Amino acid sequence: MKSLQDSVAELKGVGPKRVADLATLGIDTIEDLLSYYPTRYDDVTPVDLTTAKDRQKVTVEGEIVSEPLLSRFGYRRSRLAFRMQVGQQVIMVTFFNQAYLEKKVELGKTVTVLGKWDAQRMQVTANKMIESADPDKKDSGAIYSVNKHIKQSTLKSLIKQAYDDYQNVIPTLLPKALRDHYRLMDRREMIKDLHFPANSSLAQAARRTATYEEFFLFQLRLQSIRQANRQKDGNKILYRNDELKDFISSIGFELTGAQKRVVNEICRDLRAPYQMNRLLQGDVGSGKTIVAAIAIFAAISAGYQAALMAPTEILAAQHAEKLAKVFDGTYVQVGLLTGSLTKKQHNQLNTAIKRGDINLIIGTHALIQDDVEYANLGLVITDEQHRFGVNQRQTLREKGNNPDVLAMTATPIPRTLAITAYGEMDVSIIDELPAGRKPIETRWLKVNQQSEALHFLTDQLAEGAQAYIVSPLIEESEALDVQNATDLYNELDKYFEPKYKVGLLHGRMTADEKDAVMHEFQAGNVQVLVSTTVIEVGVDNPNATVMMIYNADRFGLAQLHQLRGRVGRGDRQSYCLLLADPKTDEGKERMTTMVSTNDGFVVAQKDMELRGAGDILGNKQSGVPDFKVGDPVGDLKILQIARSDAASLLQTPHWDEEDDNQPLVLYLQRHQLETHFD
Ligand code: ADP
Ligand code: MG
Repeated sequence: MKSLQDSVAELKGVGPKRVADLATLGIDTIEDLLSYYPTRYDDVTPVDLTTAKDRQKVTVEGEIVSEPLLSRFGYRRSRLAFRMQVGQQVIMVTFFNQAYLEKKVELGKTVTVLGKWDAQRMQVTANKMIESADPDKKDSGAIYSVNKHIKQSTLKSLIKQAYDDYQNVIPTLLPKALRDHYRLMDRREMIKDLHFPANSSLAQAARRTATYEEFFLFQLRLQSIRQANRQKDGNKILYRNDELKDFISSIGFELTGAQKRVVNEICRDLRAPYQMNRLLQGDVGSGKTIVAAIAIFAAISAGYQAALMAPTEILAAQHAEKLAKVFDGTYVQVGLLTGSLTKKQHNQLNTAIKRGDINLIIGTHALIQDDVEYANLGLVITDEQHRFGVNQRQTLREKGNNPDVLAMTATPIPRTLAITAYGEMDVSIIDELPAGRKPIETRWLKVNQQSEALHFLTDQLAEGAQAYIVSPLIEESEALDVQNATDLYNELDKYFEPKYKVGLLHGRMTADEKDAVMHEFQAGNVQVLVSTTVIEVGVDNPNATVMMIYNADRFGLAQLHQLRGRVGRGDRQSYCLLLADPKTDEGKERMTTMVSTNDGFVVAQKDMELRGAGDILGNKQSGVPDFKVGDPVGDLKILQIARSDAASLLQTPHWDEEDDNQPLVLYLQRHQLETHFD
């Protein structure tokens, strides 16, 4: 019995060498081969030359009515010309540097050529010829992405062979009701029309079905993972409501509406018997930390421990310092666990954690090292979540007894992308800044306006403000980054001497050196802090009101927005100065986006449009899969529909027992374990 799971080795002419070659394209099974869709199609529908415009791209079909004439110039260059009868006209067809076609140009043969129309000379400068005599063999113009191991034509003929041999065992995965509702093709037809469409509208219809199918299957997998998680036992964290209320009123400011909503969402999860798996999104400065503190207090009031994991030691230390203040006078005991502790300190801390004497543990990756044993871990919070691999978070999650997990991210992800990447998580969004914040004013200056920028900076310093200056980023060379920052530091130190003090921070300094500089900046003894971005400028210094970024066009939008978020934390007007002479349109657009909005979600959306969804979160860790046909940005509507259809299907009782749905059930079983994060 043939199965789509058969190896491609089953095909004629596919031996071990070819199996290996196909594997370089990720093709192992017949299924892989059949779903290796074309990336585009050449339009092979002939045009009417009498209406074609000069220099237009055309496809023409006709009969060869002259012998080919080949002229060679030097070793590689050549010109091949022949006449072709197209309708009532005879035109000239010319190929450059494709001398091998000479053999195929035979008097009387019907061919299709693709190229550019020269109306004056009645000539097509062609780049491709398709022999169209046999309508069955007619090329559909499908173009595949191939590599040096496999030729277009080889791949095409293998796909054709696979389709011919296996078309009868291609099951349709989408439930009939959905296919009928959206007028989608069945799967066999879809695969046929993707690879060998008779015309471009069939190819488009097939692509529409494939996009829906791809998104639907993906969402179905995500949401069944989520459903399974929901059914797993978690802790019912029965926090003490009165104590929690007292704690919230002790904070010293009123929570924003968005913060209150998010706190409620989290508290509902804590109380519930399932394991919380929630993503907390909010722009820099939107007040995530205090929301985290409330969740921590709730868990601890119920007798659990909480852990907070930060990506760098500086950030961990800063959280510890901040939270120790917030929890001052409560029963929350904070412990900071980092790699820079001595062995003895480490052991002492571990003992206290194991005994439960310390109930809030803050740290970096050290938190998930094996020798840390918790007494009763109930809540895990990760900060800057996109920097942690899913595996690291998973390890942390397995630390205690299915602790609730809250992942905080300050890099807003467009909603559209969040439903793709985090479909198995619940998402809470803080979309409101605390009242009274003055929007940061962002200005874009040319690199030769540096002295104006420095004058502006001097005026701000004279009013008692402090400033961050980010030195140019040299990709892939830390040594150069350090050199740059040091040069800039020397230059500015001279410039501001003796009135203002300048500090320097870079990746080659020791933790102690960095701490010392940060401390001076925080205390106001240093007014200007020069740094490379490698350094997490994660400090919260409300007195800093200027962020100046050299060669700002070297940075991505998300990073620029993060950096800008370091200012604007106090009552004063804050500024972000971008020094940049961008060379590309995209670089210019990044600058104008920064100038035109302060909203992290808008910035993220723009970032996604400029870079594409796959790139936005960097790498595999982001969990955004490479879709074959669907584009989560361009096909957003389909993605949203597929998502809600997948959810309704999972909620329909006994859907998985219907015969019609068996292929889908099998598909889910086969893919259940490989989550999109692998
Ligand atoms: P995030 O972690 O989201 O970047 P923070 O939690 O650091 O933001 O909050 C930024 C600043 O705003 C902090 O100084 C915090 O104390 C303050 N803050 C947070 N929420 C409020 C609020 N509702 N009203 C006033 N100030 C707030
Ligand atoms: Mg719970």
